[in-house]
Amino acid sequence: MQYHVLTTERCNLSCLYCGGTREIPGVPLDLEYDIEQLIDFISKDPEAVIGFYGGEPLLAMDRFQEIIDKVPAKAFTLQTNGTLLHEVKDEYLHRLHSILISLDGPKEVTDASRGEGIYNKVMENLEIIRSKGYKGDLIARMAYSDHGDIHHDVHHLLENFDHVHWQLDVFWTGLEQRGDVAGWLDRYDEGITELVSDFGRSMEEGELLGIVPFIPVFRTLLNKEPAQIWCGSGRDSFSIMTSGNIEACPIAPELVYTNNGNISTSTPDSIKDSRSVGQPCTDCDILWVCGGRCLFANQTTGWGKDWFNRVCRTTRHMIDELQKLVPLAEELINSGKIDKKIFDYPELNNGCEIIP
Ligand code: SF4
Ligand code: SF4
Repeated sequence: MQYHVLTTERCNLSCLYCGGTREIPGVPLDLEYDIEQLIDFISKDPEAVIGFYGGEPLLAMDRFQEIIDKVPAKAFTLQTNGTLLHEVKDEYLHRLHSILISLDGPKEVTDASRGEGIYNKVMENLEIIRSKGYKGDLIARMAYSDHGDIHHDVHHLLENFDHVHWQLDVFWTGLEQRGDVAGWLDRYDEGITELVSDFGRSMEEGELLGIVPFIPVFRTLLNKEPAQIWCGSGRDSFSIMTSGNIEACPIAPELVYTNNGNISTSTPDSIKDSRSVGQPCTDCDILWVCGGRCLFANQTTGWGKDWFNRVCRTTRHMIDELQKLVPLAEELINSGKIDKKIFDYPELNNGCEIIP
């Protein structure tokens, strides 16, 4: 299974859609449990993947190093805002299977949400880890927000990263107060149509664009094999908070639906498949592809039914557009021009939620 391990709730940035350091009752700012407990818990899962998460996980560099040194995980990944990457020592850098770096697009788009100078700092650090010979998967993790142009921003980041993933900024900010959200989502759908078209062209050229949300969804459409919730929350992905409490996902530990015990009293087997999406997803005709998108959104539906449905329309639109490429992919595979294996991504749950 995959475990987000939160090394700290502190953050050195204060991005618009997140707000930075979280102070949540019952969740310490710094990791407070004994690492021996984590070793004991993780050692019961031979397939454990640890994804460092926060806050900004590298602010607790000592914990980050200690966990890599001592905890017997099959793989380690890192989700970071990128500002401290230059401080990661080589021996730890090269242990990371994938690094997800938060950037929203070009300088003006990233800095508008994350702060002046952040884009340049992160790109500088990207160069540093490249110059150290980092060979793992470098993934740009975008929040697609009001300033974004999804088509343009994804292409910009693909020039610098192996893969690009994004999430719609519909989690943290009140949709009603955002102005023209409907227009923003319409523009998003148009951008997705363009991106899918580029994705099809890249397939024909045998150089598949590393667009994370498209690849596994396309594989599902091609193989007609039903998907489950892609992020894995409550199924085979959990978050180990700084208290040692286990949550289905890190986003809202104060909500009861997400609570799953503690590393000192639970085991990987006891939490596996403990939560699943309910209505409206269970009645949805595209659940088999979408997987229910987000357990948190499903359980809270905080934006109300109309906005929930509008966000679902973006998922449906992406799936419909990708579906149109299936005959082309079948032809390319059957004629030997591409290998079906190009759609086998990600290799493991690296923290990309897949459905934006
Ligand atoms: S499209 Fe919406 S309702 Fe359907 S499965 Fe996905 S999140 Fe659930
Ligand atoms: S997609 Fe939703 S349920 Fe999954 S990790 Fe993100 S916030 Fe949590």
